[in-house]
Amino acid sequence: MLVTPLSGREPPPRRPAPDAVTRRLRLTSWQGPKNKRRWITNSAGVDLLELAPVAEQTLPTNRPASPVSSVASGELTANRPAGRLRRPRWHDRHVPSDDLRPALPRIAVCGISLEASTFSPALTTATMLSPRRGREVLDAWDFWRESGSLADRAEWIGILQARNIAGGAIPADDYALLKAEILADLVATVAEGPLDGLVLDIHGAASVVGLDDMEGDLAVAVRTVVGPDCLLSSGMDLHGNVSRTLAETVDLLTTYRTAPHVDWQETKERAARNLVDRLALPPGRRRPAKAWVPVPILLPGEMTSTRQEPAASLYARVPEIEALDGVLDAGIWIGYPWADEPRNRAVVMVVGDDADLAMAEATGLARELWARREEFGFVAPTGSLEEVLTSAIASPARPYVISDSGDNPTAGGAGDVTWTLTELLASEALAASGKRAIYASIPDGVGALAAAEAGVGADVRLTLGARVDARTAPPVQVAGRVVAVVPSEDNLEVVVRTPAVDVVLTRRRRPYHLERDFTRLGLDPRTADIVVVKIGYLEPELFDLAADWMLALTPGGVDQDLARLGHRRIQRPMFPLDDVSSVDPTAGAVLFPGDTGA
Ligand SMILES: [Zn+2]
Repeated sequence: MLVTPLSGREPPPRRPAPDAVTRRLRLTSWQGPKNKRRWITNSAGVDLLELAPVAEQTLPTNRPASPVSSVASGELTANRPAGRLRRPRWHDRHVPSDDLRPALPRIAVCGISLEASTFSPALTTATMLSPRRGREVLDAWDFWRESGSLADRAEWIGILQARNIAGGAIPADDYALLKAEILADLVATVAEGPLDGLVLDIHGAASVVGLDDMEGDLAVAVRTVVGPDCLLSSGMDLHGNVSRTLAETVDLLTTYRTAPHVDWQETKERAARNLVDRLALPPGRRRPAKAWVPVPILLPGEMTSTRQEPAASLYARVPEIEALDGVLDAGIWIGYPWADEPRNRAVVMVVGDDADLAMAEATGLARELWARREEFGFVAPTGSLEEVLTSAIASPARPYVISDSGDNPTAGGAGDVTWTLTELLASEALAASGKRAIYASIPDGVGALAAAEAGVGADVRLTLGARVDARTAPPVQVAGRVVAVVPSEDNLEVVVRTPAVDVVLTRRRRPYHLERDFTRLGLDPRTADIVVVKIGYLEPELFDLAADWMLALTPGGVDQDLARLGHRRIQRPMFPLDDVSSVDPTAGAVLFPGDTGA
C-alpha cells in the first residue's frame, strides 16, 4: 500500500486586500486559498507537483494581517519624534515598542529566480516556483536569519521570492501573477514609508513565454513602485544575462565567481552587504558608476567552468579588479545559451565611484575574455552516448560517471527525455560485460506511484518518461524489481532493479549531485561500475567521487551542441556560431555614470 507522506505545506496566512491596491493592479479574479496542495500528476507534464489552473492557484496578493499593526500605526506613531525610526513590522516581532534607536535603512527583498530553456517544451508554472513570502524570504539565507551577519544592518522586509531549479519558460499569466503580487506588496510597503533599498533576488536566465528579458522587466516594474531614490542590488548567477535595461535599472550588480557555484551564498551576501554599505553613505553619493560591456560570446556552462582555463584565470582577475581603489565590484556573466533571446551573451561589468577606472577595467577584462575565446573547451572528454558508453564499459575505473548532459534538469532540461535510459537498457555490450549501472533519474509521476504501490520486492513493468519532452525518444519500457521506495516531503523516489541497471524513478524531477542522494536510496555510487547522471559538469561531490568521467552529448532542451538548437533571435554575429573576425568586442560598452562617476 502506498503511504501518502506527501502532505502539503500550510499556505501562508491571508489578510484582507486593500481595495485600492487590488483595483490598481486589476487583480479581480483571485480565488480563495486552497488549503491543501494538489499532488496530481498531469498527463501533459512531469514536473507536476500541483498543476492547478492558474486561476485556482493560491497567490495571495497581500501581506498577512499584522500582529503588531496597532503598534506600528498607533501608539508608537503617536510618540515618535521626527526623523526615521526603526519601525516594528509584522515580520519583525522582537522590537520592543519603546525602541527609538536611530533608523536602520528599510530594505525590501523580492524576486524570481529561474534558469529557463526556450528550447524545451516544458513550462514552469507559478506554483512550481514555490513562492516564499514575508519572513520565509529572509530565512532562505543564513545572513538574514536571526543573528546572521547582516540581520541587524537594516530593517529587512521579505516581499515574495520565487525560485526553482532550472526548467522551461514561465507561462505569461503565471509571471503576471507573481509580478503583480510583488508589486502589490511593494505598494503596500512603500505606503508605510519609503524604502531605502531593495534586493532583487534573481538568477538572470528566466524566460517568460512571449517576453524577452524577464529580469529587466521586473526591475523596471519594481523601480516604478519604489521610486528613483531607492537603491537596487542584485547578486546573480554567472549563467544569467544582463540586458542593458537590467544594467541601467539595478544600481549594484554582482555575480558568482565560480562554476560550479561554490560561492553562491557569499555572492548573495555580497549583494546585500554592498547595498547596506552604500546606504551608509549620504544621499547623492550612494550610486556607483556602472560600466557594462556586452561581449558576443555564447557558450554552455560545460565549456566555461572556472575549474579550468581560460575561465579559471579570467575569473581570478575579478577580485583583483574589485580590490582597486574606486572600484566596488566586478563580474563576468558568461550568459545562458539555451534561451533564444536578444540579450543572451556574455557581459562584463565593473561598478565603482571612479567611472573612468570602471570603464577601463571592464573593457580591458572584456578584451581578455574575447582574446581567449578559442581556448574554451568542454570540462571533460565528450562523445556521443555510444562512444561514452563504450569507454565506460571498457574502463577499469570505478565508478565511471557519465553525464547525460542534453536533458540536465539543473540547466533547464525537461528531465524526462528517455534517449539515454533507452540506450542503456538495450545495450548488449553492457549486458555482456557483467557490469552494472545506476541511472539517475527518470521522472514520471504515474510510474513512481505505481511502483511505490506495488511495493519493495514486487516485480513491475513500467512505461516511463517522455511526457514532456518526447521529441527524441518515446516512453521507455522498464521491467524489474522494486528495491527501494523513499517518500520525502516533496517527492517520491523508487529504485527499479533491472538485469544491468538500477533505474531511479521519481515523482518529480530532481538533481542527483550528492553521494547522499544515492545512499539514501540504498545505492552505493562508490562501488557501482557506471553511474549515469542527468547533469552537465559534475558538481563537487560527484567530481571527487568519480574515478573517471565523460560528458555524453545527448539530445534535449539543453543540448551542448548549440548549433543543433538553431538560435534565431540572438544578436549576430555570435561566437562560436558565426564568423566573428571583424567584431570589436567592446563596441557595445556603455557607462552609466551614477552619483559620483563621470
Ligand atoms: Zn549557474
